Amino acid sequence: MNDIKEMVKAIEEEIINIRRYLHKNPELSNQEYRTMDKISETLRTWGIEHEKGIAKTGIVGIIRGKKPGKTVALRADIDALPIDEANEMEYKSLNEGVMHACGHDAHTAILLGVAKIFKQMENELEGNIKLFFQPAEETTGGADRMIKEACLENPKVDYVLGLHVSPDIEVGKIGIKYGKFYAASDMLTIVAKGKSSHGASPDKGIDPMIIAANIILSLQTIVSRNLSPFNSIALTIGEISGGTQGNIIANRVQMKGILRTLDNETRRYTKGRIKTIVEKVAESMGGQGELIVHESYPPLINDDLVVDIVEKTAKNIIGQENIIYKEFPNLGTEDFAYFAQEVKSCFFEIGCRNEKLGYVNDLHSNSFNIDEGCLSLGILLQIENALALLKQ
Ligand SMILES: [Zn+2]
Ligand SMILES: [Zn+2]
Repeated sequence: MNDIKEMVKAIEEEIINIRRYLHKNPELSNQEYRTMDKISETLRTWGIEHEKGIAKTGIVGIIRGKKPGKTVALRADIDALPIDEANEMEYKSLNEGVMHACGHDAHTAILLGVAKIFKQMENELEGNIKLFFQPAEETTGGADRMIKEACLENPKVDYVLGLHVSPDIEVGKIGIKYGKFYAASDMLTIVAKGKSSHGASPDKGIDPMIIAANIILSLQTIVSRNLSPFNSIALTIGEISGGTQGNIIANRVQMKGILRTLDNETRRYTKGRIKTIVEKVAESMGGQGELIVHESYPPLINDDLVVDIVEKTAKNIIGQENIIYKEFPNLGTEDFAYFAQEVKSCFFEIGCRNEKLGYVNDLHSNSFNIDEGCLSLGILLQIENALALLKQ
């Protein structure tokens, strides 16, 4: 391990510079062309085999060990957000209105560091290391498209590792979670159809406002009455529209909302309950209800064996006292879930908080920034994690 520590130290400055270059030149989801070119150019300089244009703006790289063995993939997301950066520093975003406010610049830099060191180790490597530079984490889910373009095949990937910087965790520490980690997301559109009439003659119409109100209230009983109090979900109606004027009963009301669940069974069951409530409540009032579901990311569930390895590596490198065991899952989403759904995986958080230096702002805030000390630690942890997985 000391050798690897030295190797990481030797490239630390270069990796910080790469991270700053990426931070300066952020690109939105599915438009990461220059980012892709920068990654590709860097890999080419280091002699690392790769293919670009996977899922349009992604890259899959590979370091083939000289000895046969398993294949471990490491994933970094590469996209930025439509946010105007408020930080003032030399490497502030040059692309106005776009910012690496979720730390994907750090993830990409860490993965490049991992790649450079594994390339130096390829003669002793037993097995292969695959590199996934994935676009569009923040919007449409580039992970899903990379899998459809066979990134998990040839050679077949046995394990996938991913990480995310966390401003809630002090630099030098990591956060791990066994099992359920991030939620599945479904976008809901609900239409309540009634019959228009004069507002003074409600008996001549069917009021979709009343139907909509009853649907919203009834939906909350799924959370409070149908699911175990220990099974967390979020069901939110965030938008409602309908009607044209105060004295007219509308003929339809449309609502939009989100459903977040932590496992596939709860996801399937809850959607069934929503459909029944929407249709039956409307029907009981003489109208019609329709539910349209747009499925988004699946739940991210970590594999116990891979988390064990990440935990063990972290114990050796940073010590037990610097591992934070996350008690609760997160009802946010993370498209690493697509990889975890296919292959045994672990996604963990790496601290980037530094109160003294003022790196305390939330992800997706216009003043988010990281303590760059997390870069070399991320590289070291991921190399040791991957080496341990190759030995499995
Ligand atoms: Zn984000
Ligand atoms: Zn992110």
